[in-house]
Amino acid sequence: MIHINEVSKKYGGYTALKNINLKLREQEFVAILGPSGCGKTTLLKLLAGFMKPSSGEITIHDDLVAGPYKLVPPEKRNISMVFQSFALWPHMTVAEHVYFPLKHHRYGKIKDRQEQAGRVSETLEMVGLENLKNRYPSELSGGQRQRVALARAIVPRPALLLMDEPLSALDAELRMEMRKEIQGIHRQLGTTVVYVTHDQSEALAMSDRIVVMNKGEIEQVDPPEAIYTKPRTVFVSTFVGKSNLITGKWINIDTFIPDGFPHVSWPDMGTSVELKKQHLYPIRPEQWVVIEAERGEVTGEILFAQFQGNEIHYSVLVNDQTFSVYSSVFNKRFIPGDKVSLKVNIGVKETAISI
Ligand code: ADP
Ligand code: MG
Repeated sequence: MIHINEVSKKYGGYTALKNINLKLREQEFVAILGPSGCGKTTLLKLLAGFMKPSSGEITIHDDLVAGPYKLVPPEKRNISMVFQSFALWPHMTVAEHVYFPLKHHRYGKIKDRQEQAGRVSETLEMVGLENLKNRYPSELSGGQRQRVALARAIVPRPALLLMDEPLSALDAELRMEMRKEIQGIHRQLGTTVVYVTHDQSEALAMSDRIVVMNKGEIEQVDPPEAIYTKPRTVFVSTFVGKSNLITGKWINIDTFIPDGFPHVSWPDMGTSVELKKQHLYPIRPEQWVVIEAERGEVTGEILFAQFQGNEIHYSVLVNDQTFSVYSSVFNKRFIPGDKVSLKVNIGVKETAISI
């Protein structure tokens, strides 16, 4: 268990991290998700031991490793790190990169030569590089270089693997492929992984829990599904996926009346206390049901309709607000200018819980 307790980090007068509290469990895959500049890399560097927090403490298995007056350096922690820039050595072959930690790492060191060779080939096989082990970095593609960086990081079998936007230098197709490989490696090794990304779909697809950060603070920590279906704050509901934030009145805490439609009411489907306090009801675009205009319902006009293959994406003008609505291609189709009503798919709550 890694415990980040009330950690803040200042660069001069600038506060990059504010009162971060987080517990990382054994074998967990945690994504740190947030926009550029929100403090993700800073948090990772503190976990790695590259610098001290300005206040607060980090403990690993109850041992204090970082505080304002204490710093256990990276080489004395059983960790590995993978960066966005692969940081390979041009004069070393693939195999030499992967041997390196076994010869020099304080934790990962293996003395027996045969055992060393066994571990190297096992690791090269895991990342699919066996056939390329005698190549130099200049003779490899971007994806292959990233695999070398990955192999070098996992060969000492670290207790904690830190990854900072490891796929962002790769093209889209390769990124999808590498997502699966990284998941597979995590499953095989059982290492705790902290995976930094600004890509919400990476975080949703890969992790056990997502830590959503904004401006140096944690906004929400939850499994991907809860982040998506029950965003706690306005920031989370708009940064992770798209959300329509409907303004209105919460009555008796469990019923919502949208502004401009006093005869419409929607049940509480898990809206957070924070959003309720702001008189908001978040609705995902695919959570709407779009029908022909009906009296007494939320009614507006289709502004745009975009065919997306599996879905039609509508922009619907309701009073002076534009809502995003995604509808299956198998539903009734509408065109710009059509008057439509929007209902909320109440079934979503049950679906979300049963998955
Ligand atoms: P992220 O990885 O989420 O993009 P960073 O942790 O790199 O964000 O940076 C968080 C904030 O701290 C940014 O505003 C950045 O400009 C600032 N920052 C990062 N490193 C330093 C530094 N060494 N000195 C001063 N400011 C820094
Ligand atoms: Mg960064």
